Amino acid sequence: MIAHTQSLSFQTLDGQPITVEATATKGLPGIVIVGMGNKAVQESVQRVRSALKHSDLPLPPRRYIVNLAPAELPKQGSHYDLAIAVALLAAASLLKTSEIENCFFLGEVSLDGHIRPTNGAAFLLHHLTEDRTRAIVGTGSSAPFTPETQKLYEAPHLRDVYRHLKGVALLDPCIAKPPSIVASDETSFESIIGQEQAKRALLIAIAGHHPILLVGPPGVGKTLLGQAAASLLPPLSPEDFITRLKIGALAQEPETSGRYRSPHPTITPQALIGSPRGIPGQISLAHKGVLFIDEIAEYPANTLEMLRQPIEQKGIWLGAGPSRQFMPADFWLVAACNPCRCGYYGDPEIPCRCTEWQRRRYLNKLSGPLLDRFSIVLILNRPQNGLKSRTKSLRKNQQKELKESVHLAVSRQNNRYNSCNSYNYNASISQLSLRCHSSALDLLERTRVMKHYSQRVYQHFIALARTIADLDGSHEIQVHHMAEALQLRNTLE
Ligand SMILES: [Zn+2]
Repeated sequence: MIAHTQSLSFQTLDGQPITVEATATKGLPGIVIVGMGNKAVQESVQRVRSALKHSDLPLPPRRYIVNLAPAELPKQGSHYDLAIAVALLAAASLLKTSEIENCFFLGEVSLDGHIRPTNGAAFLLHHLTEDRTRAIVGTGSSAPFTPETQKLYEAPHLRDVYRHLKGVALLDPCIAKPPSIVASDETSFESIIGQEQAKRALLIAIAGHHPILLVGPPGVGKTLLGQAAASLLPPLSPEDFITRLKIGALAQEPETSGRYRSPHPTITPQALIGSPRGIPGQISLAHKGVLFIDEIAEYPANTLEMLRQPIEQKGIWLGAGPSRQFMPADFWLVAACNPCRCGYYGDPEIPCRCTEWQRRRYLNKLSGPLLDRFSIVLILNRPQNGLKSRTKSLRKNQQKELKESVHLAVSRQNNRYNSCNSYNYNASISQLSLRCHSSALDLLERTRVMKHYSQRVYQHFIALARTIADLDGSHEIQVHHMAEALQLRNTLE
């Protein structure tokens, strides 16, 4: 007899069902696995054999052939162990076909029969939509909450899986996790003294997802501001939570690593945008979070150029041929840099040591199309020390208030753009059909003629003014909203 069980390959975002076939034949006793498995799959033989023995389910001494189908698809990972173990039990007639059908098995077994948690549970959920399908995974696997989560069962040990399939002792359904990945709550706006203008700009930027560039001397708090902004992110929608879990699993990173990503200037292009083998890069790990590019002028020009496409498309195509897939990367871009190479140009206390030529060369790295991507460009100055204690005591509930304003502004945008599964922000809407007071448009038009703004920058101002109006609770963009928006783009000279 040939036994069949179901497992899942999660090398792409959709996940692909894998059928594990097993049969017992005459010949020298042993287990052979075929079907393009990597080393981890081949080593499964030793783990499964020992686990079955320790679960008091020893296989009769025969020759077992295990096939992972479709055979042309390379399989990676140790999570096929459980499906292989169950298929072997059925091939040895210890389980009946009716007892194992319509069930997915995902989990690595240890030598004593315990099942390790898998990070592939998120991939399983949309394969469980049919009525009778269910799945068994290791205890502690992270499963997001969807209607299908109740079809996931957690098993601590291989023995428990056997008893569940036999109907002797049933397993408990998985405990679903709410979408709760917070960014970094350690740094809040309350811990930053002064810099009220920068905080206001960041609030507008995060409420409408506008890319922002902070320029200022060292020690002005650029990194701290970036981290604090991440703490204001609105909670994830269930859909986005699942996508983030999958991206984390593909990159083999724990989901607890947060929604704030800050790569180093020496990062390789593959580590930043993703590898052709389908492994997500930092931009995808920052999906629905913050990508903080510190010292942006220190990055090689070609690395920065690679960011342009994902910013436009909210993702990146990875790989080639049949394995080509779209990796989401809808991040909020926050970047920071010094005003010059030494860092002190324009500082009232410390003189700048750069020549005019050096300074221009440094800023030229940012010029042109990349700079145009930033809706907000803000030049920061060192905060005044005298106001320290007073400012702090005055703004005690600042963090809570800011969080509420962001959430309100985001829900206004969602209502306007009718988005149900994911958030839609003013910055990502290309054709803004907006109610705008004629005086606000007049002001924008006059400034455009005076300062020769590009079409892209012109659009930025409309989107920024819309976000400011959203924060204000106004249906129409008023002239004072536009006036504030026009001040959010300092020129780098
Ligand atoms: Zn300098």
